[in-house]
Parts: sequence; structure tokens; C-alpha cells
Amino acid sequence: MSETIRTRYAPSPTGRMHVGNLRSALYEFLIAKHEGGAFLLRIEDTDQERYVEGAVDIIYRTLETAGLLHDEGPDKDGGFGPYVQSERMKTGIYMEYAKKLVEKGEAYYCFCDKERLESLRTEVVEGKEIMLYDKHCLGLSRAEVEEKLAAGVPFVIRQNIPNEGTTTFHDELYGDITVENAELDDMILIKSDGYPTYNFANVVDDHTMNITHVVRGNEYLSSAPKYQRLYDAFGWESPVYIHLPLITDETHKKLSKRSGHSSFEDLLEQGFLPEAVVNYIALLGWSPEENREIFTLDELIEQFDYRRISKSPAVFDYTKLKWMNGEYLKAMDPERFFELAEPYLRAVIHRDLDLKKIAAMVQTRIEIFPDIAEHIDFFEALPEYDAAMYTHKKMKTTAETSLAVLCDVLPLLEAQEDYSNDALYALLGGYVAEKGVKNGYVMWPLRTAVSGKQMTPGGATELMELLGKDESIARIKAGIAKLGGNV
Ligand code: GLU
Repeated sequence: MSETIRTRYAPSPTGRMHVGNLRSALYEFLIAKHEGGAFLLRIEDTDQERYVEGAVDIIYRTLETAGLLHDEGPDKDGGFGPYVQSERMKTGIYMEYAKKLVEKGEAYYCFCDKERLESLRTEVVEGKEIMLYDKHCLGLSRAEVEEKLAAGVPFVIRQNIPNEGTTTFHDELYGDITVENAELDDMILIKSDGYPTYNFANVVDDHTMNITHVVRGNEYLSSAPKYQRLYDAFGWESPVYIHLPLITDETHKKLSKRSGHSSFEDLLEQGFLPEAVVNYIALLGWSPEENREIFTLDELIEQFDYRRISKSPAVFDYTKLKWMNGEYLKAMDPERFFELAEPYLRAVIHRDLDLKKIAAMVQTRIEIFPDIAEHIDFFEALPEYDAAMYTHKKMKTTAETSLAVLCDVLPLLEAQEDYSNDALYALLGGYVAEKGVKNGYVMWPLRTAVSGKQMTPGGATELMELLGKDESIARIKAGIAKLGGNV
């Protein structure tokens, strides 16, 4: 293809960025970047009723955090502006093109009022009740139209779709799709407030901005034949269409707000890393040639081939996303890990402990940051625990053996000044050798006493190093008391 690839992400500013929207944006970005083309941002704000204050900022923030930097957009003029539809409208572009269609007989003015429209028959198409306009105003003469316009009668402009014949369009995933024209509504192109509908504006804009590939959710498939008719009416070549399959939750229902993780911002608030979310979303419907799952954005750019997008519904698997996030955390530079983990560590630990060391202990054990709390809460305060925890079959420990060990090592630990992990390990190693027992026989009761937990991010001596001498001794004494010993 000699033509430069140009793709666009065209969100309507209606709130947070849904996972499905982010996937469209990501695929658009990857298609463009894979071929060295341009990725545009266009704000589709023609539906004033759905407009949400602040939503445009969310779009900018999300694209930036996700690393999907646009080459052209409202804040980056590439010579195809304006890039906001309400501003494009002011240039008169939509009305100008709508009038061209009226001239060609492909569109017409409609002056029907609400009452008349409400009295029209409706039809159920694809489960949705839609009104098929009866072309009443197509019968108006040119003079009648001029007269009404001059009198200021409110109007819309509708697409004129014949009742006979068929329309065919091509989608990269679904192939050629042919529909009966009789099923297509004479949709509104220009609304009574003068704004274009999304349906019309997206065609005019994609053409005038030289867009070559359009990626969007397959909820737009049913409108695509009407867009195709507009392209044909203008004599324009339509872009390559890629309608993406639905994203469902684990129960195969459409991913909705109720799932709690349907937007990018929800996921970040839950402690996910942007790069892990982007990586995961890339795989919701696309698979690389090789059997591999972890990709940086640059690697995705290199590998991405839209011909490998699947048309079967993609399941958003939260457990899998968590696993992937954990892989990113494990591979992360420890400095950066600490920086990001620090607020989560501080939320739990208020004592003067070496948080860097604690961070290093948990880095390979968590999947998302909020998991940190359950791994480290015992550092802050010894939890309530059951004496039965001292009994461990494999370590061959019981309450009695544990009590004996704790009582034996207590004076050694009281006499010890150096509480570094290595020094403590050597000290206890001496005791283990002297008694001729297994390591675990000593370490299990000690770790239980200092943590009160069955699982900890480090061994007994590592925990004692972090807790320090006084706290370690206090906890061991509490353990002895719990086991019925005297201290
Ligand atoms: N403004 C539409 C939306 O947010 C964009 C659809 C498209 O990409 O054409 O759903």
C-alpha cells in the first residue's frame, strides 16, 4: 500500500474510558504505528445531551497514561483540523456536505413534528425497536421545501435510502455483508439543532481527514451499510473497516459498569499497572503469531497485524489480568517497585521499619499492589493467632517441641546484639547443629512466634532483622506464654 496509514480514535466525551474503547484506541494506534502511519484523536461531541463535563480531560489522561500518544488532535494540529466535531460544525462542513447529498437526491429535508413521528409504525430489528420513517417529506416539492425553510420551520436532513435493492459493505473480520435496503432507516444526518448526527459526522470526518482504517465495536455493524451508502453517494472510497467482537465478563455477559472493572481508571484505582492493562487488552481479540503473552507497547507495535484479530467474543478474565500484572511487578526495577509500593506499605506500617527491605520481600509475591497489606500486616502488630499453628507435620513440630525450642533460644537471642539476618542465621544454625535437629524444627516455631502467620514473605531471621531485637524478643516471649510456658 503506497498510501500513508491514518487511523483515528474518535471517542464521545461521555465519561470514563471503557475497556472496549481503550481496545479500539489501542488497535488503531498499533495499526498506524506498525506501518509508520499517523494516529489521530477526534472528539465526537455532537450529542450535547450525552456530554459529560471533564470527560475530554479523562480521554487525554487515559491515552497518555496508556502510552497511546496521538500524532494529531485538538492539541496537535496536523493540518486536518479542527479535531473536535462541535468546532468542525461551526465551519459549516457538515451542512455543506448534507446539502450536496440533497442535490444528488441522496438526502432530503424533513419537517415532520414529534407527534407525527410518534404515530409512525415501528419495527423490531436485531432486538431493538426502531422507527422506519415513511418518507413523507420526500414527497415535498422543491418550492414547498424552500417555503418552509424561509418560514423557519424546524427541520432535519435525512438520508434517502431506496426501499428496493440491497447494500453491501466489506469488513476485514466479517467479510462482505449484504443487507436489504428496506431494512435501513432513512437516518437523520443533520439534527434540528443544526448538529450533525454521529452517523453522518463520522463519515464526513473520516473522509476529510484521510482516515484509512476504522476500528470500532461491532455495535456499529448494523449502521455500516448506511455509512457505505453515504460513501458511495459522495463517490468516496470507504476506509478499511474492522468491527471488533464484544468483550464479555466471565459469565459471558457484556462487560458492564457493574462488573467494577470496566474502565481503565477503575483498573488503575484497583492497583493495576497501565502497561499490564494495555498488554492484557491487546490480547482481547488479537493473538500474535508466536505463543507468547507479555509484550511491551513497542513489541506490540512490531508484532501487530490486524488480520490476526479474531471475531469471536473476547472474555475479560480478571484473574488472568492479575496474573499478568504480577509478571510486570516481578520484572520491575526494584527502585520503581518501591516507589509505587510505598503508599501501600505506609498505609499498613506506621512503625519505623525498613520499608525498602519489606518491599523487596513482597515484590515477587503479589499480583497487584493492594495485595501487599495481607503480606505485611503482621509487621505492624502481632496478630491474634492460634497455638495450634505451632504444630507442623513436615517440620515435626508440636506445641511441646516449640515451647522447648523457644525457651532454649530466648536467652541466646537476648544475649545477641547483631540482629542482621546473617548473624541471626549463624547463631541459630549453631543451636540446630548442637541439637542435631532439622532447620525447620527451630525456624518454624520462631517464625510463628514473630509473625503469628502461617505464611510470611520471608524466613524467621529475615523477619527478626526487620523487627529488631526488642520487638522480636517481646513476640517470642508472647509465644512462650501462649504455649503455657513461663517467661
Ligand atoms: N464516537 C463513537 C463512540 O464513542 C466512535 C465510534 C467510531 O469509532 O466510529 O462510540
